[in-house]
Amino acid sequence: MKNVIVIGGGPAGMICAIEAAKRNNNVTILERNNKLGKKLYITGKGRCNITNASDVDTLILNTTTNPYFLYSSYYTLDSSMLIDYFEKLGVKLKIERGNRVFPVSDKSSDVIKVLQNELKKNKVNICLNSYVKEIKNINDKEKQVILENNECLDCNVIVIATGGLSYPVTGSTGDGYKFAKYLGHNITKLYPSLVPLKTKQSWVSDLSGLSLKNVKVQAICSNKVVYENLGEMLFTHVGITGPLVLSASRFISPKLQSEECKIKIDLKPALSEKELDNRILRDFEKNKNKDLKNSLYELLPQKLIPIIIKESKISDEKKIHDINKQERKQLIHSLKNLTLDITDTTGFNEAVITCGGINIDEINPSTMESKKVSGIFFAGEVLDVDAFTGGFNLQIAFSTGFVAGNNC
Ligand SMILES: Cc1cc2nc3c(=O)[nH]c(=O)nc-3n(C[C@H](O)[C@H](O)[C@H](O)COP(=O)(O)OP(=O)(O)OC[C@H]3O[C@@H](n4cnc5c(N)ncnc54)[C@H](O)[C@@H]3O)c2cc1C
Repeated sequence: MKNVIVIGGGPAGMICAIEAAKRNNNVTILERNNKLGKKLYITGKGRCNITNASDVDTLILNTTTNPYFLYSSYYTLDSSMLIDYFEKLGVKLKIERGNRVFPVSDKSSDVIKVLQNELKKNKVNICLNSYVKEIKNINDKEKQVILENNECLDCNVIVIATGGLSYPVTGSTGDGYKFAKYLGHNITKLYPSLVPLKTKQSWVSDLSGLSLKNVKVQAICSNKVVYENLGEMLFTHVGITGPLVLSASRFISPKLQSEECKIKIDLKPALSEKELDNRILRDFEKNKNKDLKNSLYELLPQKLIPIIIKESKISDEKKIHDINKQERKQLIHSLKNLTLDITDTTGFNEAVITCGGINIDEINPSTMESKKVSGIFFAGEVLDVDAFTGGFNLQIAFSTGFVAGNNC
């Protein structure tokens, strides 16, 4: 029997502690907050998109950083096994659009509740309000964990499951990186990811709250397309957000310091330029004597009309019958290439995940044990792995936590 200390009571830490305890270890979980799973509670807007019901190849495809490092973890606990795991613990699950899996109750608290019950059932010592300030590696089999009040806890194994830097109000403030550095690990550069973007164009604030469905978004850095997809986005008072933008941020965020990054929006991706021209001509025919600004309401949301007209460099007072072919071309160009200069992200405070973390070359992918220090394990967002939205990040936390717990 080993004395195992798991630092961090998030999804990775909880499943790890449960699995380690099932293997007859004496397990303690240390969580700085006064409750477990503070971030888990707010996931999926409080509904907890626990995983994505898809095969391992799809999990890999949706993992944006170091997917192949996760191969072994994904095969050890894939999405259907995770669904089974929770259903056995008593959480009924349902599959929604895009294979997103949620509790039938739509309550993340139900997920936390069963994990807590399972921790108790397996006699894990749960220590809340326990902030770890330091760890010490005495030798391969002896370690120490020092709490804020200087209490020193001896153990044989430490699992670092402290999360990343995103949403620090939930307790994830990057302490795991500090512990890992002390042990000689390298940390790759850290960026906020799945995060809203700020734009140079201040007119976005006039559109704040406007959601665009069925648009195509391209992320362009140094004139190269680094991401593109169709879907939904949203304007905010400082820039843009929504599913497409959050995904695009994964590719823009690391490049923002050194490259010029833009978001290009095709407002009419289903129509070619020629088809769009025909459509506009039909609309114009109906509104011949009207001003341009009063003639685009069938094509665009009201708030976007003045923006598109300005971008097209056509006077908004111009009558439809005065608009020439060249001006129509400019209008079409703006509709299919509305371009925003990205100045920044809104930072870790609003980022769904952290991109970057403990260098995966220094971790055994089959066990999550450090290759540098025996008896030290890592799990979850603290590692240099991340994925798109859709339940993939929680799958990473649960898969890596499960593997660490079964090998520590
Ligand atoms: C708003 C939001 C919504 C999200 N929604 C989804 C979703 O629906 N689906 C999805 O797949 N992913 C989602 N994610 C991402 C997902 O929440 C994370 O990937 C996941 O929580 C990472 O789990 P973790 O256990 O590694 O870290 P965390 O959940 O961050 O847990 C780490 C824990 O360690 C504790 N800790 C840190 N340092 C110390 C210390 N020194 N001493 C003691 N304790 C410490 C923290 O308090 C925290 O409780 C969302 C994220 C956010 C911010």
